[in-house]
Amino acid sequence: MLEQYWNAVQQKVCVRCIDGDRHGNCRLSPQFQCGLKEHFSKVVHVVQTTHSDNILDYVTALRREVCTHCNEQTSDGRCYVRNMLDCPLDRYFPLIIGAIKEIRQMELSH
Ligand code: SF4
Ligand code: SF4
Repeated sequence: MLEQYWNAVQQKVCVRCIDGDRHGNCRLSPQFQCGLKEHFSKVVHVVQTTHSDNILDYVTALRREVCTHCNEQTSDGRCYVRNMLDCPLDRYFPLIIGAIKEIRQMELSH
């Protein structure tokens, strides 16, 4: 099931990612971890359990459910990677939400 979400994200997000090969394959250097990949099950949960038209509500949930558990964020809520626009999860979050919602809708309509 998670695989279905991951496939959708690869097709909608990874193909546009500056760290990808434009075909959905990741080319991020092995010493860096993609937050989207690393926290994927939590990201899916955040999107599935947030019901709002306001992107800021999703961002708040992401910070609470994912970023607080990420090694990159400091205890006072700052993230250097995010500030440098180097976190693909943060950079493409609206696209990620769209891809996950689309699969969710398909599941619910079956
Ligand atoms: S860095 Fe993350 S979002 Fe970008 S291509 Fe790799 S897995 Fe996908
Ligand atoms: S924005 Fe920062 S704290 Fe949040 S997932 Fe990305 S790297 Fe981790």
